[in-house]
Amino acid sequence: MDIKSNLQKVLSDLPESVHLVAVSKFHPKEALMEAYNAGQRIFGESKVQEMTEKQEALPKDIQWHFIGHLQTNKIKYMAPYVAMIHGVDSYKLLTEINKQAEKCNRVIPCLLQIHIAQEETKFGFSFEECTEMLEKEDWKNLSHISLQGVMGMASNTDDMEQVRHEFKSLHEYFLKIKQSYFSDNDAFRHISMGMSHDYPIALEEGATLVRVGSKIFGERVY
Ligand SMILES: *Cc1c(COP(=O)(O)O)cnc(C)c1O
Repeated sequence: MDIKSNLQKVLSDLPESVHLVAVSKFHPKEALMEAYNAGQRIFGESKVQEMTEKQEALPKDIQWHFIGHLQTNKIKYMAPYVAMIHGVDSYKLLTEINKQAEKCNRVIPCLLQIHIAQEETKFGFSFEECTEMLEKEDWKNLSHISLQGVMGMASNTDDMEQVRHEFKSLHEYFLKIKQSYFSDNDAFRHISMGMSHDYPIALEEGATLVRVGSKIFGERVY
């Protein structure tokens, strides 16, 4: 398994404006260091404790993106250092992130996770729930979070037209809320979508961040 050449292959597929989140969950620190030494600086993790252990041990110029499902009581552990939280799917979570960020005197970039897949099990706001939250405007008083875009996971299917349709729906929704709520906010610009098996489609459908794991680090052993 040559992490460096896998990484370079993925990077060569990305236009300059798109950033790669190298999803390193379940992989050992040595694997992350191989990617780091090949130039990668953004890493994605899905468990707070695992991410924090890696953050403490690895170089401090790594940007840690939390891509997992959020639990309110764990936010405080990552608040001091996390570079972006992709999986915000309730107003309650936003307020908790805001509270912990304030204690650290930070502003934490967040993405709104939208449920675009057909599977019931995936997390995220429905389009309606997200619009409802934005419409209430309470979030505008949260001065220690910065809403920077949307995140979604497509259905786990071989039907690539279905996947494309879901990515398209996320892009359209992004444009809609950008216009309605963030037209004067340049920071609201991210669409985080696409994983190892579907990132080429996500790129065609307007992703600005792709989250790629197994294609770089190999299969995960749980
Ligand atoms: C694990 C994970 C990924 C990466 O998946 P791969 O198929 O290994 O590329 C991307 N996004 C999220 C939210 C994940 O949990």
